[in-house]
Amino acid sequence: MSQSPHMSLAEAIAAGVNDNSVNDANERLRASIGKVVCVGRNYAAHAEELGNEVPKAPILFMKPASSVVSIHHGVVRPNPSLYGETHYEAELCVQLAADLSAATIEEAKQAIGGVTLGLDLTLRELQTELKEKGHPWERAKCFDGACVLGDWLDPQAFGDFKNVHYQLNINNELKQDGDSALMLFPVYELLVNISHAFSLQAGDVIMTGTPSGVGILQAGDQLTLALGAHEWHAEVK
Ligand code: ZN
Repeated sequence: MSQSPHMSLAEAIAAGVNDNSVNDANERLRASIGKVVCVGRNYAAHAEELGNEVPKAPILFMKPASSVVSIHHGVVRPNPSLYGETHYEAELCVQLAADLSAATIEEAKQAIGGVTLGLDLTLRELQTELKEKGHPWERAKCFDGACVLGDWLDPQAFGDFKNVHYQLNINNELKQDGDSALMLFPVYELLVNISHAFSLQAGDVIMTGTPSGVGILQAGDQLTLALGAHEWHAEVK
């Protein structure tokens, strides 16, 4: 954000990212969601591509329910001339159907009520500037539309979540190839770990981290998210 075509961080913060373009249609989806807990650097290759250390414990941050949009309503970037690049991060997501507090593996397993793919949208230049200053990331991760979710699928189809394959294609080019076998912290272990840090509630969503291949979204990009036999399509506005 310090680069000259963009606002300074102070100017961007003063102006605010939200422009009300992604609201009413998503209210029903958001109503079922409490909080969205995100996992940073859950794949070694992604940690390395951003020049980050591989963590010894899950790195957690959150997005509010207000940031959630259905992929059927498209993917909207904050104005890049004001806020810099928006990066995509395709992630395997689970929604809880039961509360979890200091949970066991078995409780975590029973609590998963839905599975889908999501995009953790990130204002990367703003995030980098905030990180350099030691500030929290919310301004780069929590704007309306920053959590794009597909439809919820039955968790029974995913076994123990140890071998789930998913992909993000942009304009028919493979950008991210996800395999849950490569997660540093697998799904059940993540839920257990998070539930020992703070309680999870029915409706909460966990974005389990992105594989390598993150990059910039451009207007008009045609996105295809694929999870097993399921595909979701969206155009970037
Ligand atoms: Zn992410």
